Amino acid sequence: MKRKDLTGQTFGRLTVVEYAGHAKNGNAQWLCQCTCGNTAVVDGYRLRRGTTTSCGCYRREYMAKAIRENPKTVAQMGKKAQFKQTEGVNVAAATKLRSTNRSGVIGVSFDRQSGKWNARLFMKGRLLLNKQFVNFDEAVRARHQAEKEFLEPLIARVNDVAPCDVPVNSQPVRRQTRASAN
Ligand SMILES: [Zn+2]
Repeated sequence: MKRKDLTGQTFGRLTVVEYAGHAKNGNAQWLCQCTCGNTAVVDGYRLRRGTTTSCGCYRREYMAKAIRENPKTVAQMGKKAQFKQTEGVNVAAATKLRSTNRSGVIGVSFDRQSGKWNARLFMKGRLLLNKQFVNFDEAVRARHQAEKEFLEPLIARVNDVAPCDVPVNSQPVRRQTRASAN
């Protein structure tokens, strides 16, 4: 199939500079100049379909703006976008305390059966922390320790969102995020 020359054409914020070889799937790749100053190599198919319209700056701006303007929207739209940013950890769902939480501390709950405090951290489908404590403060400490260890490296990238947590009971969102606009 003859390659369609996209040089000089503009797609959203991207202007095609030159042909940059073929990907394994056979699609032509194009070096593009973004209006933000960055360059990016983009799949020609994605350019022509309008799937990719910037080097990635548009999404970053959009997210930052949305978070600034209304932290609550993070909980909704964040499920998709933030999911991507934090490598599968549903940080967004966690910006609020679950209504069933009576301890006042995310990830710490009272177990009536045993009369003890559960400290949990659920991430990427795994329970990274699941311990019981007689003492509430110890449970909180254990939870915070786990957050430091597992969550902080990830949420450091989502600067505007804090504090963060993942739901104790529900699975993180695992559905595939559609590879959409940049
Ligand atoms: Zn850009």
